[in-house]
Amino acid sequence: MSARPLIVALDGPAGAGKSTVAKLVAEKAGLALVDTGAIYRTVALLALQQGLSVDDGNALGRIAQTLPARLRFVVEGGHNRVFLDGREPPAPASTLEITATIRSPEVSAAASSVARHPAVRAALLELQRALGRRGKGSVLEGRDIGTVVFPDADVKAFVTASPQERARRRMNELSEKGLAGNESEESVLRDIMARDKQDAERPVAPLKAADDAVVVDTTGKTLQQVTDEILALVKRAREKQ
Ligand code: C5P
Repeated sequence: MSARPLIVALDGPAGAGKSTVAKLVAEKAGLALVDTGAIYRTVALLALQQGLSVDDGNALGRIAQTLPARLRFVVEGGHNRVFLDGREPPAPASTLEITATIRSPEVSAAASSVARHPAVRAALLELQRALGRRGKGSVLEGRDIGTVVFPDADVKAFVTASPQERARRRMNELSEKGLAGNESEESVLRDIMARDKQDAERPVAPLKAADDAVVVDTTGKTLQQVTDEILALVKRAREKQ
């Protein structure tokens, strides 16, 4: 058996059920989870806090360059907890945990705008690769993992679902976290469609399935079915390792 880290790339649009599947696959396969969207969300949060325009690619790129030193990803119970400024528990009370803050609809919308800029994407590339290669390997969840970040990933799956199903799931997720506020399924659907369009149409690293990715449409499938489908791909990749 090789000691090379196993890389599982799970790409797809917002709300396709990727996060839940990625978490379960990571747990069952004994791999770390790397939620790469959280990294783009962190850049967006910092931009909003600093009053920067989401159109200012150069300034956003400079923020992104600081993240390798500032961002800490902790895998806990299959979830990623995200901390800023280089500290993680047991650190002083001043440690800034942003796990929940980066999930707000405001940050979601800004993240997609921030992610359009080549300077931002370039600055985050090595960070994602380093996180992915830790230990026995990782399940990386994102938009361009199989196409750009790890074009040689051992497993590439493109997880998708109909827009209506995705809006329903995202709404449930927001409600569970107490973040639904004034959102409705219609407003979530509108946001999802706008984000998809922006993510798919950007010139750099657009949201699309890699030519060699397995497309997994989760519409009407149970979580168990989708997880099993991807775990079968992981098993096959391990046999080849
Ligand atoms: O996955 P999540 O919804 O948290 O991602 C937030 C935003 O970050 C996405 O809408 C997308 O624009 C951007 N993103 C990206 N590339 C990734 C992960 C996320 O462009 N690998």
